[in-house]
Amino acid sequence: MAQEMRSPIESGCPDGFQYMHPVMRKNFGQWAYHEDPQPGVLVHVANSGDKIWTVRAGTQRILDVYTLRELCDIGDKFGDGYIHFTIRSNIEYQVADEAKVEPLIKALTDAGYIVGGTRNSVAMLSHTQGWLHCDIPGTDASGVVKSMMDELIDEFKEWNMPNRVHMTTSCCQINCGGQGDIAINVQHTKPPKINHDLVSNVCERPSVVARCPVAAIRPAMVNGKPSLEVDEKKCICCGACFPPCPPMQINDAEHSKLAIWVGGNHSNARGKPTFQKLVASGIPNNPPRWPEATAVVKKILKTYKEDAKDWERMNDWVERIGWPRFFEKTGLPFTKYHIDNWRGARASLNASTHIRF
Ligand code: SF4
Ligand code: SF4
Repeated sequence: MAQEMRSPIESGCPDGFQYMHPVMRKNFGQWAYHEDPQPGVLVHVANSGDKIWTVRAGTQRILDVYTLRELCDIGDKFGDGYIHFTIRSNIEYQVADEAKVEPLIKALTDAGYIVGGTRNSVAMLSHTQGWLHCDIPGTDASGVVKSMMDELIDEFKEWNMPNRVHMTTSCCQINCGGQGDIAINVQHTKPPKINHDLVSNVCERPSVVARCPVAAIRPAMVNGKPSLEVDEKKCICCGACFPPCPPMQINDAEHSKLAIWVGGNHSNARGKPTFQKLVASGIPNNPPRWPEATAVVKKILKTYKEDAKDWERMNDWVERIGWPRFFEKTGLPFTKYHIDNWRGARASLNASTHIRF
């Protein structure tokens, strides 16, 4: 007789409460305040008087099984057996006993992990998946993160910035990543090169034509085969045609660059969102250490550190001094590439609050 079929497993996030430290579970929604006793450590105090200490350490976003096991073993041995990860790939351990904090920090440091990333520090750079998982990257975001954080280790470990600094990298020009105090994003500078022999076998031409935000792609017959052509005067080199049609290769060792944007911040209870602005473009995408991009980021951070008032976020600082002085103080050149003169935006970008279908 056929076995009874199992019921389908619902996908989606599991209930987070089962993984929470018991003190967190007990005091959910009932926290009175929190303090920062030392870099990398937070203490939260509940209305009930309960306290919980959090120790934060930086990790790479994509963890191998060995590292994950090691981090969990540290949590079992020196913590209370509970961990979670922040959106910037930091691991956090919770302990209900203050006496466990120092041994936990020592265990992490001895194993080579860096404790920090809280309050007015540079938190771990957040990044997207890149070559490991996605089909459109123009660079390896993880490599950029590793190279930069190696140089910003003191800014991660200590509280020596005016306020917290959130940085992001993304590995293509169009999708995830991007919004941060400093964002390092891919910038393609040449239209895609089309391999006409492959287009008819690999691409659904109507989908590719529809994908282009500026209607620069047209169907065409090339050498007797159905293919596509790009109006290079219209093309804004965004790379959106590459995912549905890999024969439209836009990645290029020389012409795919990095651009740096500054001043992005999400809205919160006290402030409106601010949008980041381009401050440096055409930076070589230069693995394995990306020295040019790192130098620009360090220059911006140094100027912010020296010039901003206490607790001013990057966007508040630029707002106060103005963009012309930002360029003067950082020494970054202001070029014609910083001026957005793309006229097509009036017709094709949604610039009103009306919902269109
Ligand atoms: S940034 Fe782009 S390439 Fe990177 S994971 Fe997101 S969609 Fe993929
Ligand atoms: S790179 Fe962007 S703008 Fe250029 S053809 Fe492809 S989708 Fe269109």
